Amino acid sequence: MKINIETIIQIAYFSAAVLFILGLKKMSSPVTARGGIIWAGVGMLVATLITFGVPGMQNYVLMTVAIAIGGGLAFWSGRIVQMTAMPQMIALYNGMGGGAAAAIAAVTLLHTTGHIEDIGEVGIALAVIGALIGAVSFSGSLIAFGKLQDLIKRSALFPYQQIFNLVLFAVTVVVGVMVVLQFPSPDPMMVYLFFGLALILGLLVTMPIGGADMPVVISLYNALTGLAVAFEGFVLGNAAMIIAGTVVGSAGTLLTQMMAKAMNRSLGNVLFSGMGTKEVASGEGSEGTMKEIEANDVGVMMAFAERVVIIPGYGMAVAQAQHKIWELTQLLTERGVSVKFAIHPVAGRMPGHMNVLLAEAGVPYDMIYDLEDINAEFPQTDVALVIGANDVVNPDARTNKGSPIYGMPILDADRAKNCIVIKRGKGRGFSGLENQLFFADNTRMLYGDGQAAGSELIQAVKGL
Ligand code: NDP
Repeated sequence: MKINIETIIQIAYFSAAVLFILGLKKMSSPVTARGGIIWAGVGMLVATLITFGVPGMQNYVLMTVAIAIGGGLAFWSGRIVQMTAMPQMIALYNGMGGGAAAAIAAVTLLHTTGHIEDIGEVGIALAVIGALIGAVSFSGSLIAFGKLQDLIKRSALFPYQQIFNLVLFAVTVVVGVMVVLQFPSPDPMMVYLFFGLALILGLLVTMPIGGADMPVVISLYNALTGLAVAFEGFVLGNAAMIIAGTVVGSAGTLLTQMMAKAMNRSLGNVLFSGMGTKEVASGEGSEGTMKEIEANDVGVMMAFAERVVIIPGYGMAVAQAQHKIWELTQLLTERGVSVKFAIHPVAGRMPGHMNVLLAEAGVPYDMIYDLEDINAEFPQTDVALVIGANDVVNPDARTNKGSPIYGMPILDADRAKNCIVIKRGKGRGFSGLENQLFFADNTRMLYGDGQAAGSELIQAVKGL
């Protein structure tokens, strides 16, 4: 068999795709996840390097400069990003992927590469579909980034916006079809109009979404970016892009479904209910007073308990309190207390956030329980220790039909015999809702930063 450069390139792209899939497989467990990142990274390196050898490739200087700038920025931002800022980082990277796919389509449709005739009418149709998805994902992800980074404070929903968006979508599709029909020489003005409409569509669809729904949207854009890349892979005849795009598309779709399910919401409800636009009146639903407790008293309570369940949330991540909490757990375990960790699927700010932090602190996996495995144990639990969690233990989700989070499964901390909540003050959770748990008769508030409170509890237990 004669091996030419074309064969070598296709083999390299195929190998890169296999590395992506194997990497993704390894990422499914915290034990092998780090290796998975490296495998996928090597795949990306192979795909990038081999692209320099593609026949007809030119502009090597531009390519090198672009890779140096992009790679440099990614390396720098990846090193400095805080764990708590991960969702917006992912939103930004998603957006870049969608934008890159749309840019490939733009170059093709604007006829600058001269290969539009080669790809045929089907090719141009795929380019247009990929462009639409990629452009929506690009502008939508930038809005998601702005919101999570607190650059955009409000979630704007104007009257009949959903209908307006639907009309805008229809017009964009019609313009896209016209671009396809103009094959092989689409009118550049039509192409610009098409991209303009698609970008505005992404902005308007994402603007009203907010609150606790943002992670689901980011995951959805992740899936869309994958799809857009796969479509443009067909246009370029690039196996790595087709396979990797499809894998990202399906993985993102699964994650989106899982997250929506964890919040007991349908995807349609997440996208169209405009949750972030609803103001929740201050103190709504709160009755009674929050009752404070000292760390020494909590130390006694936990040290002499039989069963303790620890519920970490976003505040534990902010405080980086996981090491202190693990030290406390070890002290309690030595005293014969049964300690378990209960993880809500959307605790923190990204899927698996709490698992990663606890694993980093050295908490063994067999002490960590998912919501459905631990909830039945709360009535027999002496102390539920909530550290920096709020929405994921908000009983409103179970009882208040008017609450935006009604129907979301929660960890039943309120059903424990005693509930201790560590938080700094009266700050609300991600969805901005008041939490009746903090006012309950069996709840006591241990005010303070998560890490400082953890240290105080360690001292209290050691002092017994
Ligand atoms: P929440 O955001 O609901 O609450 C966090 C609480 O932590 C706040 O009430 C805050 O109160 C407290 N806190 C903040 N900093 C500290 C600190 N240094 N020490 C102690 N406490 C602190 O967190 P949950 O984990 O309960 O819920 C996650 C929310 O985020 C859900 O609404 C979810 O939908 C959403 N989300 C989830 C994502 C995911 O994929 N996991 C991604 C993005 C959003 P105070 O200010 O008084 O200290």
